[in-house]
Amino acid sequence: MSQLYHSLEELKFDNSFVNNLPADPIEDNYCRQVSNASFSNVKPKLSSAPKLISFSAEMAAALNLHESVCRSKTFPEVFSGNKILSKMHPHATVYGGHQFGNWAGQLGDGRAINLGEVLTKDNTRWALQLKGAGPTPYSRTADGLAVLRSSIREYICSEAMHHLGVPTTRALSICLTGEEVERDMFYDGNPEKELGAIVCRVAPSFTRFGHFQLPAATQNYDLLRELINYTIRFDFPEMELRVDNTKQFSNESILEWFQEVCQRTAVMVVEWMRVGFVHGVMNTDNMSILGLTIDYGPYGWLEDYDPSWTPNTTDANDRRYRYGNQPQVALWNLVQLANALYPLIKESRPLEKALESYQTTYDQYYKSMLASKLGLKEFSSKTDDRLTKDLFQLLSKVETDMTIFFRKLALVQKTENFFNEETAYKILLPAYYKAEENSDQYKSDLNAWLKSYNRRLQDERSSADERQRAMNQVNPNYVFRNYLAQLAIDEASTGNFQPVNDLLSVLKKPYSNDESNNEYAQKRPEWARHRPGCSMLSCSS
Ligand code: AMP
Ligand code: MG
Repeated sequence: MSQLYHSLEELKFDNSFVNNLPADPIEDNYCRQVSNASFSNVKPKLSSAPKLISFSAEMAAALNLHESVCRSKTFPEVFSGNKILSKMHPHATVYGGHQFGNWAGQLGDGRAINLGEVLTKDNTRWALQLKGAGPTPYSRTADGLAVLRSSIREYICSEAMHHLGVPTTRALSICLTGEEVERDMFYDGNPEKELGAIVCRVAPSFTRFGHFQLPAATQNYDLLRELINYTIRFDFPEMELRVDNTKQFSNESILEWFQEVCQRTAVMVVEWMRVGFVHGVMNTDNMSILGLTIDYGPYGWLEDYDPSWTPNTTDANDRRYRYGNQPQVALWNLVQLANALYPLIKESRPLEKALESYQTTYDQYYKSMLASKLGLKEFSSKTDDRLTKDLFQLLSKVETDMTIFFRKLALVQKTENFFNEETAYKILLPAYYKAEENSDQYKSDLNAWLKSYNRRLQDERSSADERQRAMNQVNPNYVFRNYLAQLAIDEASTGNFQPVNDLLSVLKKPYSNDESNNEYAQKRPEWARHRPGCSMLSCSS
Protein backbone atom coordinates (compact mmCIF):
# COMPACT_ATOMS: atom_id res chain seq x y z
CA MET A 1 0.00 0.00 0.00
CA SER A 2 2.81 2.34 0.83
CA GLN A 3 3.86 2.35 -2.82
CA LEU A 4 0.57 3.93 -3.86
CA TYR A 5 0.18 7.67 -4.21
CA HIS A 6 -2.01 9.50 -1.72
CA SER A 7 -2.28 12.63 -3.81
CA LEU A 8 -2.78 13.28 -7.51
CA GLU A 9 0.15 15.70 -7.37
CA GLU A 10 2.45 12.69 -6.98
CA LEU A 11 1.63 11.45 -10.49
CA LYS A 12 4.74 11.67 -12.71
CA PHE A 13 3.82 13.41 -15.92
CA ASP A 14 5.99 12.89 -18.99
CA ASN A 15 4.13 14.48 -21.86
CA SER A 16 5.89 12.91 -24.82
CA PHE A 17 3.28 13.82 -27.44
CA VAL A 18 3.44 17.58 -26.86
CA ASN A 19 7.18 17.50 -26.18
CA ASN A 20 8.10 15.76 -29.41
CA LEU A 21 5.58 16.95 -31.95
CA PRO A 22 4.86 20.40 -33.35
CA ALA A 23 2.22 22.59 -31.68
CA ASP A 24 -0.35 24.75 -33.40
CA PRO A 25 0.91 28.30 -32.64
CA ILE A 26 -2.61 29.69 -32.18
CA GLU A 27 -3.72 29.58 -28.56
CA ASP A 28 -7.30 30.81 -28.97
CA ASN A 29 -10.01 28.20 -28.91
CA TYR A 30 -12.00 28.53 -32.12
CA CYS A 31 -12.70 26.04 -34.88
CA ARG A 32 -10.10 26.05 -37.65
CA GLN A 33 -8.06 24.03 -40.09
CA VAL A 34 -4.67 23.30 -38.58
CA SER A 35 -1.66 22.45 -40.72
CA ASN A 36 1.99 21.84 -39.83
CA ALA A 37 1.04 20.83 -36.31
CA SER A 38 -0.06 17.73 -34.44
CA PHE A 39 -2.03 19.37 -31.63
CA SER A 40 -3.51 22.57 -30.25
CA ASN A 41 -3.27 23.71 -26.66
CA VAL A 42 -6.73 23.97 -25.18
CA LYS A 43 -8.20 24.10 -21.70
CA PRO A 44 -11.23 22.09 -20.57
CA LYS A 45 -14.45 24.01 -20.03
CA LEU A 46 -15.30 24.68 -16.38
CA SER A 47 -18.01 22.44 -14.96
CA SER A 48 -20.44 24.03 -12.49
CA ALA A 49 -20.93 21.04 -10.19
CA PRO A 50 -18.53 18.14 -10.82
CA LYS A 51 -19.64 14.96 -9.11
CA LEU A 52 -17.98 11.56 -9.22
CA ILE A 53 -20.30 8.76 -10.30
CA SER A 54 -17.82 5.90 -10.37
CA PHE A 55 -14.14 5.09 -10.68
CA SER A 56 -12.34 1.96 -11.77
CA ALA A 57 -10.34 0.62 -8.85
CA GLU A 58 -8.17 -1.48 -11.21
CA MET A 59 -7.34 1.48 -13.43
CA ALA A 60 -6.58 3.63 -10.40
CA ALA A 61 -4.24 0.92 -9.09
CA ALA A 62 -2.53 0.69 -12.48
CA LEU A 63 -1.84 4.43 -12.15
CA ASN A 64 -0.46 3.83 -8.63
CA LEU A 65 -3.35 5.76 -7.11
CA HIS A 66 -4.57 4.79 -3.66
CA GLU A 67 -8.34 4.49 -3.55
CA SER A 68 -8.52 7.34 -1.04
CA VAL A 69 -7.30 9.64 -3.83
CA CYS A 70 -10.30 8.64 -5.95
CA ARG A 71 -12.63 9.38 -3.05
CA SER A 72 -11.04 12.78 -2.37
CA LYS A 73 -12.68 16.11 -3.16
CA THR A 74 -9.95 16.96 -5.63
CA PHE A 75 -10.54 13.89 -7.80
CA PRO A 76 -13.79 15.01 -9.50
CA GLU A 77 -12.36 18.52 -9.81
CA VAL A 78 -9.39 17.18 -11.78
CA PHE A 79 -11.25 14.58 -13.83
CA SER A 80 -14.01 16.94 -14.85
CA GLY A 81 -11.34 19.34 -16.08
CA ASN A 82 -11.91 22.09 -13.47
CA LYS A 83 -8.50 21.74 -11.87
CA ILE A 84 -5.39 21.29 -13.99
CA LEU A 85 -2.48 19.74 -12.11
CA SER A 86 0.79 21.61 -12.41
CA LYS A 87 2.49 19.07 -14.69
CA MET A 88 -0.47 18.50 -16.96
CA HIS A 89 -0.48 19.89 -20.48
CA PRO A 90 -4.05 19.96 -21.84
CA HIS A 91 -4.29 19.65 -25.61
CA ALA A 92 -6.39 18.34 -28.48
CA THR A 93 -4.76 16.42 -31.32
CA VAL A 94 -5.53 16.71 -34.99
CA TYR A 95 -6.38 13.81 -37.27
CA GLY A 96 -8.46 13.02 -40.32
CA GLY A 97 -10.30 9.94 -41.41
CA HIS A 98 -12.54 7.98 -43.70
CA GLN A 99 -16.09 7.97 -42.38
CA PHE A 100 -18.35 5.25 -43.79
CA GLY A 101 -15.94 4.81 -46.68
CA ASN A 102 -15.54 8.49 -47.63
CA TRP A 103 -12.60 10.76 -46.91
CA ALA A 104 -13.83 13.34 -44.38
CA GLY A 105 -10.78 15.61 -44.19
CA GLN A 106 -9.74 17.13 -40.88
CA LEU A 107 -11.56 15.77 -37.80
CA GLY A 108 -9.44 15.77 -34.63
CA ASP A 109 -10.21 15.61 -30.92
CA GLY A 110 -13.50 17.48 -31.11
CA ARG A 111 -14.56 16.60 -27.63
CA ALA A 112 -11.54 14.95 -26.14
CA ILE A 113 -8.94 16.90 -24.23
CA ASN A 114 -5.71 15.13 -23.39
CA LEU A 115 -4.29 16.01 -20.00
CA GLY A 116 -0.84 14.52 -20.63
CA GLU A 117 0.89 11.20 -19.99
CA VAL A 118 1.93 9.68 -16.72
CA LEU A 119 4.77 7.24 -16.20
CA THR A 120 3.97 4.72 -13.49
CA LYS A 121 6.47 3.24 -11.08
CA ASP A 122 7.14 0.36 -13.44
CA ASN A 123 7.63 2.85 -16.29
CA THR A 124 4.34 2.16 -18.02
CA ARG A 125 3.08 5.11 -20.02
CA TRP A 126 -0.58 6.07 -19.72
CA ALA A 127 -2.16 9.01 -21.50
CA LEU A 128 -5.12 10.58 -19.71
CA GLN A 129 -7.94 12.05 -21.74
CA LEU A 130 -11.21 13.75 -20.80
CA LYS A 131 -14.08 12.98 -23.15
CA GLY A 132 -16.78 15.64 -23.14
CA ALA A 133 -14.79 18.45 -21.51
CA GLY A 134 -15.82 21.17 -23.93
CA PRO A 135 -15.02 22.52 -27.38
CA THR A 136 -11.63 22.41 -29.05
CA PRO A 137 -10.39 23.77 -32.39
CA TYR A 138 -11.61 20.45 -33.82
CA SER A 139 -15.20 20.56 -32.60
CA ARG A 140 -16.45 21.70 -36.02
CA THR A 141 -20.16 22.47 -35.55
CA ALA A 142 -20.59 20.52 -32.31
CA ASP A 143 -20.31 21.45 -28.63
CA GLY A 144 -17.47 19.24 -27.37
CA LEU A 145 -19.72 17.78 -24.69
CA ALA A 146 -20.98 14.29 -23.88
CA VAL A 147 -24.17 13.14 -22.24
CA LEU A 148 -24.57 10.79 -19.30
CA ARG A 149 -26.01 7.84 -21.28
CA SER A 150 -23.16 7.63 -23.79
CA SER A 151 -20.58 8.29 -21.07
CA ILE A 152 -21.90 5.39 -18.97
CA ARG A 153 -21.73 3.17 -22.05
CA GLU A 154 -18.12 4.17 -22.73
CA TYR A 155 -17.02 3.96 -19.11
CA ILE A 156 -18.42 0.51 -18.37
CA CYS A 157 -17.62 -1.01 -21.75
CA SER A 158 -13.96 0.06 -21.66
CA GLU A 159 -13.43 -1.74 -18.38
CA ALA A 160 -15.65 -4.70 -19.32
CA MET A 161 -13.62 -5.26 -22.50
CA HIS A 162 -10.39 -5.09 -20.52
CA HIS A 163 -11.60 -7.77 -18.13
CA LEU A 164 -12.76 -9.91 -21.05
CA GLY A 165 -9.19 -9.79 -22.35
CA VAL A 166 -9.98 -7.70 -25.42
CA PRO A 167 -7.40 -5.00 -26.28
CA THR A 168 -9.02 -1.68 -25.41
CA THR A 169 -8.58 1.83 -24.16
CA ARG A 170 -9.48 2.02 -20.46
CA ALA A 171 -11.52 4.30 -18.25
CA LEU A 172 -10.54 5.74 -14.88
CA SER A 173 -13.66 7.65 -13.93
CA ILE A 174 -17.00 9.10 -14.87
CA CYS A 175 -18.19 12.43 -13.47
CA LEU A 176 -21.33 14.50 -13.87
CA THR A 177 -20.54 18.06 -14.88
CA GLY A 178 -23.62 19.73 -13.44
CA GLU A 179 -24.48 21.12 -16.89
CA GLU A 180 -27.30 20.16 -19.17
CA VAL A 181 -26.57 19.22 -22.75
CA GLU A 182 -29.06 19.35 -25.60
CA ARG A 183 -29.29 16.29 -27.83
CA ASP A 184 -31.69 15.23 -30.57
CA MET A 185 -31.31 11.54 -29.84
CA PHE A 186 -33.59 10.31 -32.63
CA TYR A 187 -32.60 13.00 -35.14
CA ASP A 188 -36.30 13.84 -35.48
CA GLY A 189 -36.23 17.53 -34.60
CA ASN A 190 -37.10 17.00 -30.93
CA PRO A 191 -33.98 17.84 -28.95
CA GLU A 192 -34.05 17.29 -25.21
CA LYS A 193 -31.89 18.39 -22.32
CA GLU A 194 -29.75 15.61 -20.87
CA LEU A 195 -27.19 15.46 -18.07
CA GLY A 196 -23.63 16.23 -19.15
CA ALA A 197 -20.83 13.86 -18.11
CA ILE A 198 -17.10 13.36 -18.59
CA VAL A 199 -15.21 10.09 -18.79
CA CYS A 200 -11.49 10.05 -18.11
CA ARG A 201 -10.14 7.62 -20.71
CA VAL A 202 -6.75 6.04 -20.32
CA ALA A 203 -4.52 4.34 -22.89
CA PRO A 204 -0.82 4.08 -23.74
CA SER A 205 -1.76 6.52 -26.51
CA PHE A 206 -4.84 7.62 -28.41
CA THR A 207 -3.15 7.75 -31.79
CA ARG A 208 -5.42 6.68 -34.64
CA PHE A 209 -4.95 5.66 -38.28
CA GLY A 210 -6.40 9.08 -39.09
CA HIS A 211 -3.46 10.84 -37.44
CA PHE A 212 -1.25 9.52 -40.26
CA GLN A 213 -3.85 9.93 -42.97
CA LEU A 214 -4.20 13.68 -42.49
CA PRO A 215 -0.59 14.78 -43.12
CA ALA A 216 -0.48 12.31 -46.04
CA ALA A 217 -3.63 13.85 -47.52
CA THR A 218 -2.25 17.38 -47.17
CA GLN A 219 1.10 16.18 -48.56
CA ASN A 220 2.89 17.27 -45.43
CA TYR A 221 5.36 14.40 -45.61
CA ASP A 222 7.81 15.87 -43.11
CA LEU A 223 5.12 15.95 -40.48
CA LEU A 224 4.00 12.46 -41.48
CA ARG A 225 7.53 11.16 -40.98
CA GLU A 226 7.86 12.99 -37.68
CA LEU A 227 4.65 11.40 -36.43
CA ILE A 228 5.77 7.94 -37.51
CA ASN A 229 9.15 8.39 -35.83
CA TYR A 230 7.45 9.54 -32.66
CA THR A 231 4.92 6.69 -32.70
CA ILE A 232 7.49 3.97 -33.21
CA ARG A 233 9.72 5.38 -30.49
CA PHE A 234 7.03 5.85 -27.87
CA ASP A 235 4.23 3.44 -28.74
CA PHE A 236 6.30 0.51 -30.02
CA PRO A 237 9.48 0.70 -27.91
CA GLU A 238 9.69 -3.10 -27.71
CA MET A 239 10.22 -3.31 -31.46
CA GLU A 240 13.77 -1.94 -31.14
CA LEU A 241 13.78 -0.76 -34.71
CA ARG A 242 16.79 0.89 -36.23
CA VAL A 243 17.12 4.62 -36.84
CA ASP A 244 19.38 5.85 -39.61
CA ASN A 245 21.99 8.59 -39.25
CA THR A 246 19.35 11.28 -39.74
CA LYS A 247 17.64 9.95 -36.59
CA GLN A 248 14.79 8.64 -38.68
CA PHE A 249 13.47 5.15 -38.93
CA SER A 250 14.38 3.48 -42.20
CA ASN A 251 11.68 2.44 -44.67
CA GLU A 252 12.41 -1.12 -43.67
CA SER A 253 11.62 -0.29 -40.04
CA ILE A 254 8.48 1.60 -40.99
CA LEU A 255 7.30 -1.45 -42.93
CA GLU A 256 8.06 -3.71 -40.02
CA TRP A 257 6.07 -1.38 -37.79
CA PHE A 258 3.16 -1.29 -40.23
CA GLN A 259 3.12 -5.08 -40.30
CA GLU A 260 2.92 -5.05 -36.52
CA VAL A 261 -0.06 -2.67 -36.73
CA CYS A 262 -1.74 -5.05 -39.21
CA GLN A 263 -1.20 -8.00 -36.91
CA ARG A 264 -2.42 -6.23 -33.79
CA THR A 265 -5.52 -5.08 -35.63
CA ALA A 266 -6.20 -8.68 -36.69
CA VAL A 267 -5.90 -9.90 -33.11
CA MET A 268 -8.25 -7.17 -31.87
CA VAL A 269 -10.96 -8.05 -34.40
CA VAL A 270 -10.70 -11.78 -33.63
CA GLU A 271 -11.29 -10.91 -29.98
CA TRP A 272 -14.37 -8.88 -30.95
CA MET A 273 -15.67 -11.89 -32.87
CA ARG A 274 -15.02 -14.14 -29.90
CA VAL A 275 -17.14 -12.13 -27.48
CA GLY A 276 -19.75 -10.91 -29.99
CA PHE A 277 -18.78 -7.23 -29.92
CA VAL A 278 -19.86 -4.96 -32.76
CA HIS A 279 -18.01 -1.64 -32.79
CA GLY A 280 -20.61 0.13 -34.90
CA VAL A 281 -18.42 2.97 -36.28
CA MET A 282 -15.22 1.50 -37.65
CA ASN A 283 -14.18 4.70 -39.38
CA THR A 284 -10.42 5.09 -39.79
CA ASP A 285 -10.42 7.86 -37.18
CA ASN A 286 -11.77 5.27 -34.74
CA MET A 287 -8.96 2.76 -35.35
CA SER A 288 -6.16 2.80 -32.79
CA ILE A 289 -2.60 2.45 -34.07
CA LEU A 290 -1.98 0.20 -31.04
CA GLY A 291 -4.73 -2.22 -32.03
CA LEU A 292 -6.97 -1.18 -29.14
CA THR A 293 -10.74 -0.91 -29.26
CA ILE A 294 -11.33 2.84 -29.20
CA ASP A 295 -14.32 5.21 -29.21
CA TYR A 296 -17.29 3.46 -27.71
CA GLY A 297 -20.22 5.01 -29.55
CA PRO A 298 -23.18 3.11 -30.98
CA TYR A 299 -21.53 -0.27 -30.35
CA GLY A 300 -23.47 -3.35 -29.32
CA TRP A 301 -23.24 -6.99 -28.32
CA LEU A 302 -24.62 -9.79 -30.42
CA GLU A 303 -27.55 -11.33 -28.67
CA ASP A 304 -28.96 -13.80 -31.16
CA TYR A 305 -26.20 -14.90 -33.50
CA ASP A 306 -26.73 -12.78 -36.62
CA PRO A 307 -23.63 -11.80 -38.63
CA SER A 308 -25.60 -9.08 -40.43
CA TRP A 309 -26.52 -7.25 -37.22
CA THR A 310 -25.38 -3.69 -36.58
CA PRO A 311 -26.38 -1.63 -33.56
CA ASN A 312 -25.85 1.67 -35.39
CA THR A 313 -29.06 3.17 -36.83
CA THR A 314 -26.98 5.50 -39.05
CA ASP A 315 -25.62 2.36 -40.73
CA ALA A 316 -28.94 0.48 -40.88
CA ASN A 317 -29.14 0.53 -44.69
CA ASP A 318 -25.64 -0.38 -45.82
CA ARG A 319 -24.66 -2.34 -42.68
CA ARG A 320 -21.06 -1.59 -43.49
CA TYR A 321 -20.09 -2.12 -39.87
CA ARG A 322 -22.16 -5.26 -39.20
CA TYR A 323 -20.68 -8.00 -36.99
CA GLY A 324 -19.71 -10.28 -39.85
CA ASN A 325 -18.10 -7.51 -41.89
CA GLN A 326 -15.69 -6.32 -39.19
CA PRO A 327 -12.72 -8.39 -40.40
CA GLN A 328 -13.07 -7.01 -43.95
CA VAL A 329 -13.55 -3.43 -42.76
CA ALA A 330 -10.46 -3.61 -40.59
CA LEU A 331 -8.48 -4.64 -43.66
CA TRP A 332 -10.04 -1.84 -45.71
CA ASN A 333 -8.98 0.60 -42.99
CA LEU A 334 -5.44 -0.81 -43.00
CA VAL A 335 -5.34 -0.29 -46.78
CA GLN A 336 -6.12 3.39 -46.15
CA LEU A 337 -3.27 3.52 -43.65
CA ALA A 338 -0.99 1.85 -46.21
CA ASN A 339 -2.00 4.54 -48.72
CA ALA A 340 -0.95 7.17 -46.19
CA LEU A 341 2.48 5.55 -45.80
CA TYR A 342 3.00 5.07 -49.52
CA PRO A 343 4.45 8.57 -50.17
CA LEU A 344 7.33 7.68 -47.85
CA ILE A 345 7.77 4.05 -48.87
CA LYS A 346 7.24 4.73 -52.60
CA GLU A 347 6.73 1.04 -53.39
CA SER A 348 3.45 -0.79 -53.15
CA ARG A 349 4.64 -4.40 -52.99
CA PRO A 350 6.14 -4.30 -49.46
CA LEU A 351 3.02 -2.53 -48.17
CA GLU A 352 0.87 -5.22 -49.78
CA LYS A 353 2.99 -7.86 -48.12
CA ALA A 354 2.34 -6.33 -44.71
CA LEU A 355 -1.36 -6.20 -45.53
CA GLU A 356 -1.26 -9.88 -46.41
CA SER A 357 0.02 -10.51 -42.91
CA TYR A 358 -3.27 -9.11 -41.62
CA GLN A 359 -5.11 -11.91 -43.39
CA THR A 360 -2.74 -14.66 -42.35
CA THR A 361 -2.69 -13.50 -38.72
CA TYR A 362 -6.45 -13.15 -38.75
CA ASP A 363 -7.07 -16.61 -40.22
CA GLN A 364 -4.66 -18.33 -37.89
CA TYR A 365 -5.78 -16.56 -34.74
CA TYR A 366 -9.46 -16.86 -35.66
CA LYS A 367 -9.17 -20.61 -36.05
CA SER A 368 -7.41 -21.07 -32.76
CA MET A 369 -10.02 -18.81 -31.14
CA LEU A 370 -12.83 -21.00 -32.53
CA ALA A 371 -11.06 -24.13 -31.35
CA SER A 372 -10.78 -22.69 -27.86
CA LYS A 373 -14.47 -21.76 -27.80
CA LEU A 374 -15.24 -25.42 -28.48
CA GLY A 375 -12.75 -26.71 -25.92
CA LEU A 376 -10.39 -28.08 -28.57
CA LYS A 377 -6.65 -27.80 -28.05
CA GLU A 378 -5.99 -27.07 -31.69
CA PHE A 379 -7.95 -26.28 -34.81
CA SER A 380 -7.61 -29.15 -37.22
CA SER A 381 -8.84 -28.06 -40.64
CA LYS A 382 -9.62 -31.62 -41.69
CA THR A 383 -12.44 -31.87 -39.18
CA ASP A 384 -12.98 -28.40 -37.78
CA ASP A 385 -13.62 -26.34 -40.91
CA ARG A 386 -16.79 -28.32 -41.35
CA LEU A 387 -17.62 -28.55 -37.65
CA THR A 388 -17.48 -24.78 -37.14
CA LYS A 389 -19.22 -23.96 -40.42
CA ASP A 390 -22.08 -26.27 -39.49
CA LEU A 391 -22.23 -24.78 -36.01
CA PHE A 392 -22.59 -21.20 -37.26
CA GLN A 393 -25.23 -22.34 -39.70
CA LEU A 394 -27.08 -23.94 -36.86
CA LEU A 395 -26.82 -20.80 -34.73
CA SER A 396 -28.29 -18.71 -37.58
CA LYS A 397 -31.20 -21.06 -38.17
CA VAL A 398 -33.18 -20.08 -35.09
CA GLU A 399 -32.73 -17.10 -32.79
CA THR A 400 -29.91 -18.35 -30.55
CA ASP A 401 -28.10 -16.28 -27.95
CA MET A 402 -24.44 -16.66 -28.86
CA THR A 403 -23.04 -16.00 -25.38
CA ILE A 404 -25.40 -18.39 -23.61
CA PHE A 405 -25.05 -21.09 -26.25
CA PHE A 406 -21.26 -21.35 -25.90
CA ARG A 407 -21.40 -21.16 -22.14
CA LYS A 408 -23.97 -23.96 -21.99
CA LEU A 409 -22.10 -26.04 -24.55
CA ALA A 410 -19.38 -26.55 -21.94
CA LEU A 411 -22.01 -28.21 -19.74
CA VAL A 412 -23.26 -30.43 -22.58
CA GLN A 413 -19.83 -31.76 -23.40
CA LYS A 414 -19.37 -32.66 -19.74
CA THR A 415 -22.48 -34.76 -19.34
CA GLU A 416 -22.35 -38.52 -19.52
CA ASN A 417 -25.51 -38.47 -21.60
CA PHE A 418 -23.97 -36.47 -24.38
CA PHE A 419 -25.88 -38.52 -26.91
CA ASN A 420 -29.12 -38.12 -25.11
CA GLU A 421 -30.94 -35.60 -27.26
CA GLU A 422 -33.21 -34.47 -24.50
CA THR A 423 -30.50 -33.87 -21.93
CA ALA A 424 -28.42 -31.83 -24.34
CA TYR A 425 -31.40 -29.82 -25.56
CA LYS A 426 -32.51 -29.04 -22.02
CA ILE A 427 -29.08 -27.66 -21.19
CA LEU A 428 -29.06 -25.46 -24.28
CA LEU A 429 -32.67 -24.30 -23.87
CA PRO A 430 -31.88 -20.96 -22.14
CA ALA A 431 -30.05 -19.86 -25.32
CA TYR A 432 -33.19 -19.84 -27.50
CA TYR A 433 -35.26 -16.71 -27.88
CA LYS A 434 -38.24 -18.59 -29.29
CA ALA A 435 -37.70 -22.14 -28.12
CA GLU A 436 -41.36 -23.01 -28.70
CA GLU A 437 -40.81 -22.43 -32.42
CA ASN A 438 -37.87 -24.83 -32.71
CA SER A 439 -38.95 -27.43 -35.27
CA ASP A 440 -38.23 -31.15 -35.19
CA GLN A 441 -35.95 -30.57 -38.15
CA TYR A 442 -33.96 -28.03 -36.15
CA LYS A 443 -33.69 -30.38 -33.20
CA SER A 444 -32.46 -33.16 -35.41
CA ASP A 445 -29.88 -30.84 -37.03
CA LEU A 446 -28.73 -29.81 -33.57
CA ASN A 447 -28.42 -33.40 -32.53
CA ALA A 448 -26.46 -34.30 -35.64
CA TRP A 449 -24.05 -31.46 -34.92
CA LEU A 450 -23.68 -32.45 -31.28
CA LYS A 451 -22.86 -35.96 -32.38
CA SER A 452 -20.10 -34.81 -34.67
CA TYR A 453 -18.82 -32.49 -31.95
CA ASN A 454 -18.77 -35.36 -29.50
CA ARG A 455 -16.90 -37.52 -32.03
CA ARG A 456 -14.37 -34.73 -32.42
CA LEU A 457 -13.92 -34.48 -28.66
CA GLN A 458 -12.88 -38.12 -28.60
CA ASP A 459 -9.64 -37.09 -30.36
CA GLU A 460 -8.74 -34.77 -27.50
CA ARG A 461 -6.57 -36.00 -24.69
CA SER A 462 -8.02 -33.64 -22.08
CA SER A 463 -10.67 -34.68 -19.59
CA ALA A 464 -14.19 -33.26 -19.74
CA ASP A 465 -13.44 -31.27 -16.60
CA GLU A 466 -10.34 -29.70 -18.09
CA ARG A 467 -12.19 -28.83 -21.28
CA GLN A 468 -15.07 -27.28 -19.42
CA ARG A 469 -12.70 -25.13 -17.39
CA ALA A 470 -10.85 -24.06 -20.54
CA MET A 471 -14.09 -23.24 -22.38
CA ASN A 472 -15.32 -21.16 -19.46
CA GLN A 473 -12.19 -19.04 -19.74
CA VAL A 474 -12.92 -17.97 -23.31
CA ASN A 475 -16.72 -18.06 -23.40
CA PRO A 476 -17.91 -15.27 -21.11
CA ASN A 477 -20.87 -15.71 -18.82
CA TYR A 478 -21.47 -11.97 -18.41
CA VAL A 479 -21.19 -9.50 -21.26
CA PHE A 480 -22.33 -5.88 -21.35
CA ARG A 481 -25.66 -6.70 -22.94
CA ASN A 482 -27.30 -3.73 -24.61
CA TYR A 483 -30.38 -3.86 -22.40
CA LEU A 484 -28.29 -4.08 -19.21
CA ALA A 485 -26.59 -0.86 -20.25
CA GLN A 486 -29.95 0.77 -20.81
CA LEU A 487 -31.31 -0.31 -17.40
CA ALA A 488 -28.28 1.19 -15.66
CA ILE A 489 -28.67 4.36 -17.73
CA ASP A 490 -32.38 4.66 -16.86
CA GLU A 491 -31.56 4.49 -13.16
CA ALA A 492 -28.61 6.87 -13.43
CA SER A 493 -30.82 9.43 -15.14
CA THR A 494 -32.91 9.52 -11.97
CA GLY A 495 -29.80 9.98 -9.82
CA ASN A 496 -29.30 6.34 -8.79
CA PHE A 497 -25.76 5.32 -9.74
CA GLN A 498 -25.71 2.05 -7.81
CA PRO A 499 -26.64 -0.03 -10.89
CA VAL A 500 -23.66 1.44 -12.78
CA ASN A 501 -21.34 0.28 -10.04
CA ASP A 502 -23.12 -3.07 -9.62
CA LEU A 503 -22.88 -3.78 -13.33
CA LEU A 504 -19.22 -2.83 -13.41
CA SER A 505 -18.42 -5.17 -10.56
CA VAL A 506 -20.14 -8.10 -12.30
CA LEU A 507 -18.40 -7.34 -15.60
CA LYS A 508 -15.03 -7.37 -13.88
CA LYS A 509 -15.38 -11.16 -13.64
CA PRO A 510 -16.95 -12.05 -16.96
CA TYR A 511 -15.90 -15.69 -16.89
CA SER A 512 -17.07 -16.43 -13.36
CA ASN A 513 -20.30 -18.12 -12.44
CA ASP A 514 -21.98 -16.65 -9.40
CA GLU A 515 -25.56 -17.68 -8.68
CA SER A 516 -26.27 -14.31 -7.10
CA ASN A 517 -25.46 -12.62 -10.41
CA ASN A 518 -27.71 -14.83 -12.50
CA GLU A 519 -29.86 -11.91 -13.64
CA TYR A 520 -26.85 -10.55 -15.57
CA ALA A 521 -26.38 -13.77 -17.53
CA GLN A 522 -29.86 -13.92 -19.06
CA LYS A 523 -30.83 -13.36 -22.66
CA ARG A 524 -32.42 -10.07 -23.66
CA PRO A 525 -36.00 -9.81 -22.36
CA GLU A 526 -38.77 -9.33 -24.92
CA TRP A 527 -39.47 -5.71 -23.89
CA ALA A 528 -35.94 -4.78 -25.00
CA ARG A 529 -36.27 -6.25 -28.49
CA HIS A 530 -37.11 -2.97 -30.19
CA ARG A 531 -36.43 -0.41 -27.49
CA PRO A 532 -33.95 2.30 -28.54
CA GLY A 533 -30.72 1.98 -26.59
CA CYS A 534 -31.26 -1.78 -26.30
CA SER A 535 -31.42 -3.03 -29.86
CA MET A 536 -30.20 0.00 -31.79
CA LEU A 537 -28.42 3.24 -31.15
CA SER A 538 -27.97 6.49 -32.96
CA CYS A 539 -24.63 8.28 -33.09
CA SER A 540 -26.09 11.02 -30.87
CA SER A 541 -23.93 11.14 -27.78
P1 AMP B 1 -16.99 9.74 -33.72
O1 AMP B 1 -17.36 9.09 -35.00
O2 AMP B 1 -18.10 9.81 -32.70
O3 AMP B 1 -15.78 9.13 -33.14
O4 AMP B 1 -16.66 11.28 -34.02
C1 AMP B 1 -16.19 11.76 -35.22
C2 AMP B 1 -15.63 13.14 -35.05
O5 AMP B 1 -16.64 14.02 -34.54
C3 AMP B 1 -14.46 13.24 -34.10
O6 AMP B 1 -13.57 14.19 -34.61
C4 AMP B 1 -15.09 13.73 -32.81
O7 AMP B 1 -14.19 14.43 -32.02
C5 AMP B 1 -16.19 14.66 -33.35
N1 AMP B 1 -17.31 14.77 -32.42
C6 AMP B 1 -18.24 13.87 -32.10
N2 AMP B 1 -19.12 14.37 -31.21
C7 AMP B 1 -18.73 15.63 -30.93
C8 AMP B 1 -19.23 16.67 -30.08
N3 AMP B 1 -20.30 16.53 -29.33
N4 AMP B 1 -18.54 17.82 -30.07
C9 AMP B 1 -17.45 18.01 -30.83
N5 AMP B 1 -16.94 17.09 -31.65
C10 AMP B 1 -17.57 15.90 -31.71
MG1 MG C 1 -14.11 9.03 -32.89
